[in-house]
Amino acid sequence: MQSSEDIMSHCLTAGGCLCGALRYGLRGAPTVSMICHCRTCRRAAGSPTVAWLTCSAENLSWMRGKPAAFASSPAVVRTFCASCGTPLTYTHAERPSEVDVTTCTLDNPEAFPPTYHAWVSHDLAWVRFGDGLTAYHAAKEGEPCRHGLPRNYPGLPA
Ligand SMILES: [Zn+2]
Ligand SMILES: [Zn+2]
Repeated sequence: MQSSEDIMSHCLTAGGCLCGALRYGLRGAPTVSMICHCRTCRRAAGSPTVAWLTCSAENLSWMRGKPAAFASSPAVVRTFCASCGTPLTYTHAERPSEVDVTTCTLDNPEAFPPTYHAWVSHDLAWVRFGDGLTAYHAAKEGEPCRHGLPRNYPGLPA
């Protein structure tokens, strides 16, 4: 088994939860950096939007602790810190080789600015960015399904 130091020497960047119980490292460059406006992310994070990086699943290593998991739909698993609640990852059964990591759990989120907005059809009326990035009604065209599938969630109003 590799030590945390061995893993870190190969990592592009690292991050973790608010309380410090969980730490992870990422190798390789993310393939997507976007801001999701879907209502499921909104409720899961308690935040108007959530910024995500898509990475190869094999490039994510947990260096300290393991996150708790919640199946937010039959196809989707979200992980979070069981101690402090920080949302950490999102995986979808239709793209099992990828994992989305919350950009703002990185130690250096400034290094990975988003390139577009997704699911603005779910937006709250008072969310305004004005950052000039392309805003997609749902998932970005031509990309596999990312977030926001129209489903009925027990915790969300219909
Ligand atoms: Zn924590
Ligand atoms: Zn989302």
